[in-house]
Amino acid sequence: MIIGSCHAPGVDLCPTCSAPLNGRTVRRPAPDEPLQVRELRRCKTCDHVAWRPESDTGPWSDAGSGPEHDYLFATLQPLPEPWSFIPHGEKAELEAQLRTEVPDEHPLRGKKVIAIARCGGCDEVVYSVEEDPGWFARVHLTWRSAPGSLPWPTTTPLALPLVNSLADHAH
Ligand SMILES: [Zn+2]
Ligand SMILES: [Zn+2]
Repeated sequence: MIIGSCHAPGVDLCPTCSAPLNGRTVRRPAPDEPLQVRELRRCKTCDHVAWRPESDTGPWSDAGSGPEHDYLFATLQPLPEPWSFIPHGEKAELEAQLRTEVPDEHPLRGKKVIAIARCGGCDEVVYSVEEDPGWFARVHLTWRSAPGSLPWPTTTPLALPLVNSLADHAH
């Protein structure tokens, strides 16, 4: 990695256009090294996405621009009631619960998922499926401690943007 001599510690600058990089941070595994987590931010000035290793305070690297990044940042719009984003510290439990519940033959069996949002009125959780950036699945968790039998946990694919496809989920 090239470290620019003009980099001021503590100031996050876009590696592409040098504008302040003050958007929201998204965390994702590195594409080539899944155990390594990267922070990503989208520059509001040039629309490029920048990345750096998690917990690093050094300069950012360019991750390019284009629609393939949209799904990462599309979820930042407010969600319709009663949906809410899952705080970073609560994702792991919901991801582990899905892995526990899905039986063989289930479309999400063996998939690496990221818990995105949950419904405040029922046990439904939205996951993104890591291998396919366009695949968001709404899942009704059973909260059992062993795999269920199909179709449980029931799952529905969601179209983007999530804000629209979650709006008709009513109680
Ligand atoms: Zn920029
Ligand atoms: Zn619900």
